[in-house]
Amino acid sequence: MTDCLFCRIARGEIPATIVAESPRCLAFRDIAPQAPVHVLVIPRAHQGSLNDLVDAATFGEMGALAQEVARREGVSDSGYRCVVNTGADGGQTVGHLHLHVLGGRPLGWPPG
Ligand code: AMP
Repeated sequence: MTDCLFCRIARGEIPATIVAESPRCLAFRDIAPQAPVHVLVIPRAHQGSLNDLVDAATFGEMGALAQEVARREGVSDSGYRCVVNTGADGGQTVGHLHLHVLGGRPLGWPPG
């Protein structure tokens, strides 16, 4: 058990707007959305970043939950982007593995 922000959200100690859940993962709205749809998918168990991923099954479940989020948010057909920021250059600010699901408007490429 850790005291990191997303662990505390996963334990229900810090409020978040839950969008979808699976046995090992949780999806909730980003507090500072960068697009009309901006949901974070996390593993419930603490893993600091993609560098710390030890079981591929967890990442697979995150992908499956992202797919469900897209469906529930109505962006499956219009399109969406899944992003995993990793480390300083990757722009990671919260040290608990998370996958951003962004959509609801055309997203530029390449990212800044
Ligand atoms: P990253 O920069 O990839 O580490 O993404 C961290 C994300 O967490 C940012 O988009 C933040 O807006 C989001 N965030 C930070 N605190 C919270 C919170 N309490 N609830 C929901 N999202 C949060």
